[in-house]
Amino acid sequence: MCGIVGYIGSRNAYPILIQGLHRLEYRGYDSAGVALINQSGDLNVYKSKGKVAALEHYAEEKDTTGTIGIAHTRWATHGEPSDINAHPHYSQSDNIAIVHNGTIENYAVIKQALIGHGYTFRSDTDTEVIVQLIEYIIAQNACSLYEAVLQATKEIVGAYAIAVIAKDNPDQIIAARRSSPLVIGIGNDFYCLASDATPIVEYTKKVVYLEDGEIAIINRNEPLKIMTEQNVESKINICKLRMSISELEKGGYPHFMLKEIFEQPKTLLDCLSGRVSIDGKNISISGIIDNKDKFLRAERVIIVACGTSWHAGLIGKHLIEDFCRIPVTVEYASEFRYSNPVITDRDILIAISQSGETADTLAALELAKSRGAFVFGICNVIGSSIPRATDSGCYIHVGPEIGVASTKAFTGQVTVLAMVALTVGQLRETVSNQTFEQVATDLRRIPSLIEEVLKLNDRIHDLSKIFTYAHNFLYLGRGYNYPAAMEGALKLKEISYIHAEGYPAAEMKHGPIALIDNEMPTVVIATADSIYDKTVSNIQQIKARGGRVIAIVTAGDQVASSIADYAIEIPEISECLSPLLTSVPLQLLAYYIAVNKGRDVDQPRNLAKSVTVE
Ligand code: GLU
Repeated sequence: MCGIVGYIGSRNAYPILIQGLHRLEYRGYDSAGVALINQSGDLNVYKSKGKVAALEHYAEEKDTTGTIGIAHTRWATHGEPSDINAHPHYSQSDNIAIVHNGTIENYAVIKQALIGHGYTFRSDTDTEVIVQLIEYIIAQNACSLYEAVLQATKEIVGAYAIAVIAKDNPDQIIAARRSSPLVIGIGNDFYCLASDATPIVEYTKKVVYLEDGEIAIINRNEPLKIMTEQNVESKINICKLRMSISELEKGGYPHFMLKEIFEQPKTLLDCLSGRVSIDGKNISISGIIDNKDKFLRAERVIIVACGTSWHAGLIGKHLIEDFCRIPVTVEYASEFRYSNPVITDRDILIAISQSGETADTLAALELAKSRGAFVFGICNVIGSSIPRATDSGCYIHVGPEIGVASTKAFTGQVTVLAMVALTVGQLRETVSNQTFEQVATDLRRIPSLIEEVLKLNDRIHDLSKIFTYAHNFLYLGRGYNYPAAMEGALKLKEISYIHAEGYPAAEMKHGPIALIDNEMPTVVIATADSIYDKTVSNIQQIKARGGRVIAIVTAGDQVASSIADYAIEIPEISECLSPLLTSVPLQLLAYYIAVNKGRDVDQPRNLAKSVTVE
């Protein structure tokens, strides 16, 4: 959450910072700001409530010169979104400026102490406390900015990625991190830094990921220095970015979300390639093969995740229990991390997170690891914190996901979970060769089948117009498609702000059926599976109460489609993989309803991507 960008080099920093903020805007977008030091040594801070475009408008007539600067796009945690609470924050003397991602838990105590020392505060943020503390430490100890940041990081408790500049040193940025990501890009005559690599990739492919507790001293025209919290110099580990700029553009689509929905045939091909053999006889996931014994002796799998990834985890539970015969529990990471779980060294914890930075998921995996579990990550962003904290894992390789509502990452996660379940099932000999080959072959068909499903685009667009003005929606599914129903409901509420519930189809009669009337549409996933007849009965129950039903059915369906008001046909596929197909029309339905309502699809209110706060 929140985007930080910084630049120091020979070019004007402002356009680079603004472009970087646009790239990072999906991480938070309630306010934005920049701090620049100009040729005359003035430290100018410009900030504004709203999106980056509002900041650009505000700064139009201002002095935006300077070859060093830091910038921020905020997702408020402390204090409402406002001009004053926007970052960067000045210190009392206006000599130091800071941008911060994260939350400082002991900010109130430090603030009181600083007020006692005569400091006054302009904002309601926890962030301002850090910059004032840094200034106070410098005043007390006559020390350098680096030393003050080092000292300050020892006093603050919480999560942070920070970048700091000071008026008296226009040749230096100090950056630090704990539990919030920060990446430094290294160019020939410049350095840039950001919360993730997306703003950096157009300038350089050489990056260094800051580790927890590290502080970077970024001096103009000098080698990068990274220090540990013990004030010892760290070895610089330069990585090469594999991302391309075209992956970060809309590519002719009106929204990233639509682009990402349509990318799924390709992203899943990338996800499968090199892993599932053409004849469907083999799946190779090195993160499993290299840790074979752990999977062979596993007695339980615990999946931890949040939001959409949690829904993928629920599908993973079915897959793993079906193919590996290992009991699986699926936990909300935010609950798990504060529980007192019974963990043994025969537990495998699977942490699922698109960004690989989800704070709760990271904390949950660390808890499980400290209690002896083997920890396996399923993430998208290469080099992010979760893959670095896990024992092993498998990337989903679906490319950068910019739309805040996850689409291609969800299908990538389910695809990886299917490959994991089959691989482990084969190792443990709990899946028959016939089932293995059938499902693996079907997995390889998924990209082209999604291509087919996407042909429903116009039909779903038309359908969306009928339901745009509904205030409530119910989504029902059973078995593998119950999580898909929950995910469909989540998509709708995230981007259209229509209240929607995902429910197991049969549970409906224990409560939600009371809500059914002709104002409340129900989306029922009624594909041809082992419990199809039961789902058809549920549709009957809704129709008997005057409800309107959109049914997602298998091609050639006769029964459900004749009872439902509208039917959307998807191709036939193994039951365990059907969520990969049923979720796509639900993504499109949510998308078009949100567009019809004039919502900001890629940046829905109150949300942000990459949830790095608790
Ligand atoms: N806690 C800080 C604030 O509310 C930073 C939030 C963020 O990460 O955007 O301003």
